[in-house]
Amino acid sequence: MQEKSFGFYDLVETFPKPGCAICTLLEADTQRLLDNILYERVTDPPTQTRFRNSRGLCSEHAHQLTTFSHALGIAILYEAVLDKTLKALEQAEKEAGSPGGWARWWNAAAANDPLVAALEPEESCMICAAQDDHESLYISILTDHITDDRLETAYRASDGLCRAHFQMSLRAARDAAQARLLLDIQRDIWGRLRGELREFARKYDFKHVDEKMGAEGDSWRRAALHFSGARSIFGSRRGKR
Ligand SMILES: [Zn+2]
Ligand SMILES: [Zn+2]
Repeated sequence: MQEKSFGFYDLVETFPKPGCAICTLLEADTQRLLDNILYERVTDPPTQTRFRNSRGLCSEHAHQLTTFSHALGIAILYEAVLDKTLKALEQAEKEAGSPGGWARWWNAAAANDPLVAALEPEESCMICAAQDDHESLYISILTDHITDDRLETAYRASDGLCRAHFQMSLRAARDAAQARLLLDIQRDIWGRLRGELREFARKYDFKHVDEKMGAEGDSWRRAALHFSGARSIFGSRRGKR
């Protein structure tokens, strides 16, 4: 079992906030990482190499990057990406430009051609990769310490984990007691949410229109946004999970 780390206290403090605590922590980590890259590492050679190798960031994180006001940093990073890509295309074009080369290129299976392959990232988006690492860490801290009163109480009183993070937590459980407790907590939370959705639908009916809508009034929105996890965490993972 791991020692109680910052991650443990981060989870205890984040569970009371709206939404999935692991999504929320990953979103904050992502903002910090993008900030760190832009303001401290744009001319750092290993960062530039990593950025070039992944051909920049995935679509989701590139959009997030452009919300930062450090335009020059973004320009420097993408100048490096375009430089590498164009050089690779020029090299591939030179090779194809030999006598008969273009005809051979056209006839070849395009996917295996060096010109086409030059567009393929050699590494994954560095923000997605960092999210994967941090996610594994939070999941293992949660499962390892789920029997700690502070963590259990905070989780029970929360909106619960999103579906994917709950599934990952169950997979990471080391014994039946951990899995049972996780299941018990999450089932109660989802049960309450289902109750709110039913109550919302009942009051929405014209026969009950005189009844005032309570906290269940926005349960449809909470359910839709919460169940699938935060957009900046899962929006980029097309087909991954
Ligand atoms: Zn989540
Ligand atoms: Zn990404």
